Amino acid sequence: MKYYNLKHSEEKVDFRTAAIKGQGKDKGLFFPENLPLFNEEFIQNLHQYSDEEIAYQCMKDFVGDEIPSEVLRKIVAETISFEIPLIKINDEISVLELFHGPTLAFKDIGAGFMSRCLSYFLENQQKKVTVLVATSGDTGGAVAHGFYNLPGIDVVILYPKNRVSPVQEKQLTALGKNIYALEVNGSFDDCQSLVKQAFSNEEINNTLFLTSANSINIARWLPQQIYYLLALKQWQQRENKIPVICVPSGNFGNICAGILAHLRGLPAEHFIAACNANDVIPEYLKTRAFNPKDAVPTLSNAMDVGDPSNFVRILELFNNEFDSLKNTISGYSTDDQETMHTITKVYNKYHYILDPHSAVAFTSLEQYLKENPGKKGFILGTAHPVKFPDAVEKAIKTKIEIPQSLEALMKKEKKTIEINSDFEELKRFLLNKN
Ligand SMILES: *Cc1c(COP(=O)(O)O)cnc(C)c1O
Repeated sequence: MKYYNLKHSEEKVDFRTAAIKGQGKDKGLFFPENLPLFNEEFIQNLHQYSDEEIAYQCMKDFVGDEIPSEVLRKIVAETISFEIPLIKINDEISVLELFHGPTLAFKDIGAGFMSRCLSYFLENQQKKVTVLVATSGDTGGAVAHGFYNLPGIDVVILYPKNRVSPVQEKQLTALGKNIYALEVNGSFDDCQSLVKQAFSNEEINNTLFLTSANSINIARWLPQQIYYLLALKQWQQRENKIPVICVPSGNFGNICAGILAHLRGLPAEHFIAACNANDVIPEYLKTRAFNPKDAVPTLSNAMDVGDPSNFVRILELFNNEFDSLKNTISGYSTDDQETMHTITKVYNKYHYILDPHSAVAFTSLEQYLKENPGKKGFILGTAHPVKFPDAVEKAIKTKIEIPQSLEALMKKEKKTIEINSDFEELKRFLLNKN
């Protein structure tokens, strides 16, 4: 399989190059040259296959012979080595819990797959590889855990001081070893801008082998298709309607992977892009005008994105045809007040605790089902509620239990290097860390 640059279609690279480089010329995103269709018998009978086999079948055509099949089987098996249950909340709505991985967020799966692929590709590299990443909270932890203890790889994470939740901070800062956490006196945008400057700095790139781990990397984007297959496997065993699939969305990588799987043959009645107050895509779907804005902070902070980077991939999937895109996706925007209201309501009615991101999705799906009676569906539960205790405990008026795996983590010591939002400070750190 070859991947072309969406900004310069003449630039074509293999899976390995796309995974290592992250993006192409002029920061163009890579996109697969063709969409390998699922075998119909396979898709109709998912329950006959193990989760590992499903994940392998999903990914193999994208990787081709660049990773030997037995290695790829091992990579996907390790990537999904925790439970991913589809839980019924009520008659119409189920939730696919994607938050039982090492950092209790769905990003564990994309980050886990990417880190293992990179580790395979870079095994025999002479130079140590430095993965540089900015995070607003969840990405950093998932990436840190994905790369933790891998030989020949250092991870440097920049995060905004005092702007991530206590659990998120521990996940970034308590690992040590090859994981370096830089606590930046500034915002997430400042962190991201520092990272961008580092990637374009000659002196740094002459000294270090830098690579990114951001969400636009195909090795993080593509494995997210697996969620939808594993959901469908469970869905098929108890429901006879084709599901409406609702995805809490920020950068739109997750939903874009779901639509990709759908175009390859995965049955889906409709997709819902569930957004918080950052409503660029719902507005686009309504008005056809795409107006990126500055992100506004919300309770579902991992979705605070004002200019979703995967939007261009969604357009590409539909050959830029607005009408066919609109037939497949609807968009909804939910504000913080409604989000809190949903967490309270779902807890009181069904005794199920939603995190703020999943609550945005629940609100949207409920609204869609009200407007389109007779349908059923599921939401993607993207984070464990314990990662957002302030909002959730306020909404349900109860303390949430900390899972055992987290208790140990919360007792560990935070280790960070504090820097100002100043490129010279980052540069000095990078050039002197080894
Ligand atoms: C990253 C994230 C999202 C948004 O996913 P995208 O692929 O960027 O749309 C939603 N929920 C949580 C908890 C996240 O961490």
